[in-house]
Amino acid sequence: MGKGKRFAVNNILKSLYFVLSMMIGRNSGLIKEEAHRLGFSHCGIARAETLSEDAFRLESWLKNSFHGSMHYMENHFDKRIDPRKLVDGARSVITLIYNYFPHQVQNDSIPRISKYAYGEDYHLVIREKLLELLDRMRNEIGEVQGRGFVDSAPVLERSWAVRSGLGWIGKNGNLIIPRAGSFFFIATLITDLELDYDAPFQTDHCGSCTRCIDACPTQAILPDKTIAANQCISYFTIELKANEIRTEHTWSDWIFGCDVCQDVCPWNRFSQPHQEEKFMPRQEMLSFNLADWEALGSTNFKKLFYNSPLKRTGYARLLRNLNFIRTQYEKISVEVVQIILS
Ligand code: SF4
Ligand code: SF4
Repeated sequence: MGKGKRFAVNNILKSLYFVLSMMIGRNSGLIKEEAHRLGFSHCGIARAETLSEDAFRLESWLKNSFHGSMHYMENHFDKRIDPRKLVDGARSVITLIYNYFPHQVQNDSIPRISKYAYGEDYHLVIREKLLELLDRMRNEIGEVQGRGFVDSAPVLERSWAVRSGLGWIGKNGNLIIPRAGSFFFIATLITDLELDYDAPFQTDHCGSCTRCIDACPTQAILPDKTIAANQCISYFTIELKANEIRTEHTWSDWIFGCDVCQDVCPWNRFSQPHQEEKFMPRQEMLSFNLADWEALGSTNFKKLFYNSPLKRTGYARLLRNLNFIRTQYEKISVEVVQIILS
């Protein structure tokens, strides 16, 4: 090829590259704009690639049986660490953050429910938004392949959030967003679109703080940000299928999940109440005492909580959880009386 021709080809390639970069930038901007319109507070994008370091951590976590009876965690190891094995042709992982910090919290001294479960089931609410986002991408950009996930597939959401520059993983294992906290759902959209990638979040702002470790009622927070999920109250009250909770640990309040390690985190002083109508708390949830829950009955439970995350546990297991905290409460009361009398 002559010098003149080579020069012309180079110019064409440069122009093509320029147009492509413009399109990639425009598409990325459009996705973030639409995400915010749908109510996501943060959106970050990372290149779809293998999560090598996470693979090592996950392997060791599974080897230590920290997943307890959640055997599904052992499945799809390859897909968990590489989104390209989960979605054909995946090039980008879009991480979307949705606030669930409530306006109102439960009354004092009643059986406690994790804040994320106050309203409607987040799987349904957020899945709808992911589908809407994908639709808009198809309308504006063209042929786009992609799949949205919210706690529903082998995706390491928190790792993708860090890679997308949104925050760091705290000692309590939660994603912490600077000046926003950790009371957020994390959703992921894996797509075959090439996009602009955000710089990963490189720093850790836990510093010398150990509040979550000190406050955890079951010592489930281990060094190096490892969470022994099989010791966590969320595991005992939601994931465990057994008819009885058997553990040497005690707690006398939580009947669905646990927020202790988030409630004590200083970064959550930045939490702002969400604006999602569907996550508004049910009044029963805010005020039911132990006797109210026990008197509710299975039929009324199904009617009241048909679209709530609580339906995952079901009434029978909720009664099991109530029974556990009642026993703990009685034990603690006896110990207090003994101390007073001694
Ligand atoms: S959710 Fe509760 S039990 Fe689980 S690690 Fe946090 S403080 Fe501990
Ligand atoms: S409580 Fe402290 S150590 Fe735990 S996640 Fe928050 S900042 Fe980090």
